[in-house]
Amino acid sequence: MSVEVEIKLKINSRTDIERVLEETGFVRADLVLESDTYYTSDHHDFAALDEAFRVRSTENRMTGKRSAAITYKGAKMDNISMTRQELETTVGDAKICRKILEHIGFRPVPPVEKLRQYFHKENITACVDTVTNLGDYLELEIIVETEEKKEAALDKVKEILQTIGYSMQDTTRTSYLSMLLAK
Ligand code: ATP
Ligand code: CA
Ligand code: CA
Repeated sequence: MSVEVEIKLKINSRTDIERVLEETGFVRADLVLESDTYYTSDHHDFAALDEAFRVRSTENRMTGKRSAAITYKGAKMDNISMTRQELETTVGDAKICRKILEHIGFRPVPPVEKLRQYFHKENITACVDTVTNLGDYLELEIIVETEEKKEAALDKVKEILQTIGYSMQDTTRTSYLSMLLAK
């Protein structure tokens, strides 16, 4: 079982954050456009359960390569971060995958689109996101294989957060989708 240990915070300057990340040892990786369709249904209320079910299409802005993935996320596992179970696998054709889901009763909610710059340092991933109609955000994430490892991973994420000049008070536990729906 994979657990996604993640925090999210609003940022003022994309370029400043990217510079600070590189100064603290993060290596710039892919720049991608991610288009997410989340689902709801009569038999499973994802929003009420704090779960998520989505199909993501990704376009790599450097190579032009496209890919897609289907993802389930469980409810948040603590009160301070966005840590949750994550099950994700690639799919061949996002459009067909979405059609299949719609035929069996899953209804799409408004889409979430963002330009995402990935950075990596050891097992930590940093994402600098420009979310359409929302603004700029930073996410710090570690994926661990077992639940016992999530506390240590969160400590490591907090440490990085302090290194780049922020604290847990600066973070939000609200998803991009919920922020967009609240607008
Ligand atoms: P990732 O970290 O996997 O790249 P992301 O950063 O694009 O995802 P997040 O805001 O971290 O997006 O997570 C998306 C969140 O949307 C889910 O974790 C879930 O809590 C929320 N969500 C999913 N479906 C619904 C829904 N129907 N209504 C409200 N919120 C939802
Ligand atoms: Ca996230
Ligand atoms: Ca994540």
